[in-house]
Amino acid sequence: MIKTDMKDILTGLDRYEVFLEKLEKEIENVGDDRIVIIYTDIKHFKYINDTYGYKVGDSLLRDFVNEFMKQEAVILCAARVYSDNFVTAGRLPGNGLSNEEFRDLIYQLNLEREMKFREKYLNSRLQFCTGISVIDKNSRSLDAETAVSNANLARKVAKEMEEDCCVLFDQSMMEGIRREVEITSSIPKALSQREFQVYFQPKIDTDTLALIGAEALVRWQKTDGTFVYPDEFIPLIERSGQIVEVDYYVYREVFRFLAERLREGKRVVPVSVNVSRVHLNRMHILEYVKGLMEEFQVPCSLVEFELTESIYLENTERALELIKGLHKMGFKISMDDFGSGYSSLNLLSKLPIDIIKLDRVFLKEGEMQENDRIIISCVVDMAKRLKITSLCEGVETLEQCNYLKEVGCQMQQGFYFSRPIPQEVFEKLLEEDAEG
Ligand code: C2E
Ligand code: CA
Ligand code: CA
Repeated sequence: MIKTDMKDILTGLDRYEVFLEKLEKEIENVGDDRIVIIYTDIKHFKYINDTYGYKVGDSLLRDFVNEFMKQEAVILCAARVYSDNFVTAGRLPGNGLSNEEFRDLIYQLNLEREMKFREKYLNSRLQFCTGISVIDKNSRSLDAETAVSNANLARKVAKEMEEDCCVLFDQSMMEGIRREVEITSSIPKALSQREFQVYFQPKIDTDTLALIGAEALVRWQKTDGTFVYPDEFIPLIERSGQIVEVDYYVYREVFRFLAERLREGKRVVPVSVNVSRVHLNRMHILEYVKGLMEEFQVPCSLVEFELTESIYLENTERALELIKGLHKMGFKISMDDFGSGYSSLNLLSKLPIDIIKLDRVFLKEGEMQENDRIIISCVVDMAKRLKITSLCEGVETLEQCNYLKEVGCQMQQGFYFSRPIPQEVFEKLLEEDAEG
């Protein structure tokens, strides 16, 4: 007699623990075959529950299981891990389909199932996301749980993709995760031990070529001397939310730097800092900046905030609140990376933008293309009419510098003038520039 507590009540599939036991045995007996573990979840399933109620949601899950059992002839065992997450294991003969062909097959099945389900449940967004891991005689030492978690990892990768919703696990995914954990777990120490430094990249006045400002860019040098570059760690700590702390660290360093120079009667120029989109979820940035102003007594005219245009599209209401808040306090606002994404020109007239920073995509390597020239000159022209200052990023050659002068782009920033440099070097530059 089958004990009912070994089954999932809703779907009649094995409970997950039972599934793992069965899978363990299958792996032991893999022989010359391969065991495939297929982990699937239903994207936008919550929408079904929310719109049609749990009864319909439950019936969809049961339907899904029926489809599964019907079509995957190779199935050995199956379980519902939780909610709308299912795992099945099957056996493939050693000389049968290749792993990639098997993936393609499941991909096709998913597409067919999606069509059926979208019709029945009136949800055009319903999508099945699948990750597959494969065990053969060389990897049979892997335990069942790890094999499932590999498939689950591939499923997560699949879920992040727009189109291709079926992904084969490979070891490089583990490397990515390992690196992500390594980075995010070392952030608290990096903050407390001051491993982050603020570098400054000069901004140049197009007419006079004088140094008239800088962008603060974070650098991370670990105690063992190795550098971790922003392009690698910033996306990861945006995902974990830790970018908020790192941004605050940078803001504090910039305020401290400016306050010190002012106190010593030395020359200062406005410094801009970057605002990650993650601040929109927290919204204590205004409070934090207010605190810095009180603590350091730096005039607002010396600090600018750079926000990318994508931030407005993500959460327009909050972005507006943030920008207006900073603007009200007296800070200048730059629209960063203008032209790199969906440029929404009407934002320029809606928001209190002081500066637009043309993305370096306009200045591709090699000679400047006619089309890019036209676009740059139009953007600069439009900005001028809207009384917005334009700055072009990524200037690497004299030709580019001269062209920007021709079209009247007021400010420039790029390797042609200087890379981002440590504070001491930037300070020297400030003195020299004042003398020259
Ligand atoms: P971004 O805000 O667009 O910063 C400009 C990036 O372009 C910098 O890269 C800079 O080194 C690079 N760059 C400047 N001139 C040139 C040039 O002529 N040619 C080329 N090829 N590159 C040039 P970096 O410092 O690696 O920073 C990358 C991105 O990381 C930044 O892009 C920004 O989005 C982010 N980031 C850096 N520091 C911070 C920070 O403190 N907070 C936040 N939220 N983001 C930061
Ligand atoms: Ca920037
Ligand atoms: Ca930029």
